[in-house]
Amino acid sequence: MAAPKYTIADFNRDYPDEDACLETVFRMVYPDGVACRKCGQERPHSKLTGRKAYSCNYCGTHVYPLAGTIFEKSTTALKSWFYAMFLMASTRCGISAKQLERELGVTYKTAWRMFDQIRKLMDEDDGPLWGEVEVDETFVGGKLSNRHRQNGEKFHDQMANKVAVVGAMQRGGKLKTQVVPNVRKTALIPLVVEHVMPHATVFTDEAKGYTKLADHGFKHRRVNHSAKVYVSGNVHTNTIEGFWSLLKNGIRGAHHAVGANKLQTYVDEYAFRYNHRDDAEPLYKVLKGRVTKTRHGRYGRYAPLDTAG
Ligand SMILES: [Zn+2]
Repeated sequence: MAAPKYTIADFNRDYPDEDACLETVFRMVYPDGVACRKCGQERPHSKLTGRKAYSCNYCGTHVYPLAGTIFEKSTTALKSWFYAMFLMASTRCGISAKQLERELGVTYKTAWRMFDQIRKLMDEDDGPLWGEVEVDETFVGGKLSNRHRQNGEKFHDQMANKVAVVGAMQRGGKLKTQVVPNVRKTALIPLVVEHVMPHATVFTDEAKGYTKLADHGFKHRRVNHSAKVYVSGNVHTNTIEGFWSLLKNGIRGAHHAVGANKLQTYVDEYAFRYNHRDDAEPLYKVLKGRVTKTRHGRYGRYAPLDTAG
């Protein structure tokens, strides 16, 4: 059963003002408390009035929870950022930068920048898929002017102005998607090898790009679409095809058209929402461990960044 939806009322209750938003980031950046770099140990910290900083209750050394997050250099209110994330995470069909501009009352330039930053957080990598995995490819409309033909690629591979996307979906689990230059086996097989555990059962259609999958240790089951067979027992790719419809309708509805060079981030955005569709708090899921990813990657968990001054 799907979890109850996280509504705008929930959002306003959880994030009534700037301080509540900052506190949320603070707790995400320091889930186990702050190790004060001067005291050399974990200390309680208190919010500094009128500043986006906390200070050590013992020695007064400051920490800046926004450092290394997507909010760091922004003059936009944190609550606007949170609201943008709420909208982008909870709107099933996606939301455009133009809609964000209207909802937040910011300039289009600001809205676009927020949109772009938040979407980058939606690029997921949670390790390989396993069990029963459906793999399928589709073509999404792109703008021809942004589409450069790859070396040696024939025109029919381009499907006029369409861009190929490959997806792998673990049944009852996550989905991964990747924009590819073509749908030949040289493009498809390495992706499956990278994103799916060996010995998984992989379901595909009869497309040529998937021949040889069994050579890489996968149990390969194919559904014969050309013979009008779409389901044979558990052999089908219906789950991932459902996602393709969602993606295409979403892009058509919210964005009209997407340039090939931008398509991967759009696809990631839709995959992210799909992967979290049953979460009680999609917003929270977006945030947690994501706005702070850079920081932890660069500085480590217990080395608060010195940005004092
Ligand atoms: Zn201290």
